[in-house]
Amino acid sequence: DLVYLNGDYLPLAEAKIPVLDRGFIFGDGVYEVIPVYDRRPFRMADHLDRLRRSLAGIRLADPYGDAEWQALFAPLIEAADWPDQGIYIQVTRGPAPRDHAFPKDVRPTVFIMAMQLSAPPPEVVEHGVAAITAEDNRWLRCDLKAVSLLANVLLRQLSVDRGCAETVLIRSGHLTEGSASSIFVVRDGVIMAPPHDNLVLPGITYDVVVELAGQAGLPVALRPVTEAELRGADEIWLTSSTKEITAVTRLDGQPVGDGRPGPLFRRLHAAYQVYKHQVMRG
Ligand code: PLP
Repeated sequence: DLVYLNGDYLPLAEAKIPVLDRGFIFGDGVYEVIPVYDRRPFRMADHLDRLRRSLAGIRLADPYGDAEWQALFAPLIEAADWPDQGIYIQVTRGPAPRDHAFPKDVRPTVFIMAMQLSAPPPEVVEHGVAAITAEDNRWLRCDLKAVSLLANVLLRQLSVDRGCAETVLIRSGHLTEGSASSIFVVRDGVIMAPPHDNLVLPGITYDVVVELAGQAGLPVALRPVTEAELRGADEIWLTSSTKEITAVTRLDGQPVGDGRPGPLFRRLHAAYQVYKHQVMRG
C-alpha cells in the first residue's frame, strides 16, 4: 500500500496531511482516476489533459508535465498487488490559515495512490443494473473534476438506499449524467448522449465509447436528451473508468426496453474489451 505524497513514497498509513489543508477545509482541490490494465495506463494522456483543465479551472498550475506524472506513477503501479488498478491523483491548493481567498505562497498538496480495479462481474454484464433518477442539484461547473463531491455523494446514496447501482441526474428536464458516470441512451438504433458542456464531466470512457461506435459505423448523436427520451429509451448505458460500459436495465423500477442489456450494448461492450486488450498488449 505504497502511496506518493508531496515528493515522498511511503506506506498509506504514514501519509498525513495538515488539518488546515484547503482540500480538507474547503474541498479546494481536484482529482483524477486513471485506469491501469495489466500495469499499463489506459488513455493516460486524455486523463492528464483533463487534470490540467480541472487545475486551470480552479486557477492552479499543473505542477508536472505528462512525462513527470508518468514517472511518479511508475513505482506505485509496480508495487501494487493487483495488475488492474485505478491511479487516484489529488491536487489541493495546500495548507494555509483558514480564509476563503487564495493564500499567497502556498505549496499545492499532491497525493497519488493505486486502488484495486475490478471489471464489472459477469452477472452485471449479463443482466445490467438498476438505477433511479433524481434532480441534478449540483453546481454549474460539473466539467471540473473537483474533490468537493458532497452533492454527488448525497445523490449516489439515494440509489444505495433503494438497492440501485446509480442515480441518473436530470436538470431542467434534460439528462446530464450519473452521480459518478456518464449516461448514454439508445432510441431507434441511434446512440445519444448529452454533449460536453459545463453541466457534465467530460468522461474519458464516454469518448472511448463514441470512438468505438464510430469505428463500428453505428449512428451517434451527441445532443441534449430530454427526460422523456430517457424514459422511453430502448437501451441505457452508464460508462466510467471503473465501471467500463454497463447496461442500465431498470430505471425507477420500470424495465428499460425489454429489461435486458440490448444489442448495441453487447456490441460496444465487446468492442471495449477488444480495445482494452490491445492496450494491455501494448
Ligand atoms: N461523470 C461523473 C460525475 C464522474 O464522477 C465520472 C467518473 O468516473 C464520470 C462522469 C465518468 O468519467 P470517466 O469515464 O472519465 O471515468
